[in-house]
Amino acid sequence: MGDFSYKDIYIKDGRRVLEVNILPEKYCNFDCIFCPIGRSQNKVDTQKSFDEMDSSLRELESMIENTKAELVFINSKGEALVNDKIGHIIDLIKGKGLPVRLLSNGYLLGRNEYLEIANRCDEVIGEIKTITEEDFQKVQRPIEEYTLDEYISNMIAFNKQYKGKFILEVTIIKGYNDTEESIKKIKNIIKEISPDQIITERMNDERFKKKLGISDERFEEISNALLNI
Ligand code: SF4
Repeated sequence: MGDFSYKDIYIKDGRRVLEVNILPEKYCNFDCIFCPIGRSQNKVDTQKSFDEMDSSLRELESMIENTKAELVFINSKGEALVNDKIGHIIDLIKGKGLPVRLLSNGYLLGRNEYLEIANRCDEVIGEIKTITEEDFQKVQRPIEEYTLDEYISNMIAFNKQYKGKFILEVTIIKGYNDTEESIKKIKNIIKEISPDQIITERMNDERFKKKLGISDERFEEISNALLNI
């Protein structure tokens, strides 16, 4: 048994999607207060080696074959780019003739070593959750010296040269980015990053829903405003 974990295969947009987590435990460069995985004991932005990689790669190969997957979605317990074998993982999937979708919070996409890895994926998802420097520090608790400006510029720089499909996931959080003024700011950020697709999300986790969740009505209103720009 390897160290990767999988979701049951599902169909999305007519394709059989195999979703894989490639981290043995949480490794992230952020420590968001609402992280569904829990606190970041390993707050890192450099690559790490993990054990059992050979058996994990073999297992991934047979999962692809047995599930007849048509797309592999790398969605990990944190920032998948910090697994030092991510390049091998992408090559293995591509070698099987399948497209790769990668979820990243987006901060590392501006750094050359990570940009080159992400460029090999057919689809990359980046994220926006807070829109002021103060909230970014307070709520997403990134590695020291990270700034919101750099976060956004990293995604802008990445998407300027990226040939694949860049998807921006915007999470609406009550009290942080759900006012009219915030929506205007998010629209400007979207224009600057210029993604191929926008996905809107909100706090769905029961633990955070009460404090940070927004109503169905407001979510629909904001989603319509963001999806139609
Ligand atoms: S970026 Fe995602 S994985 Fe990382 S701490 Fe925040 S919510 Fe968790």
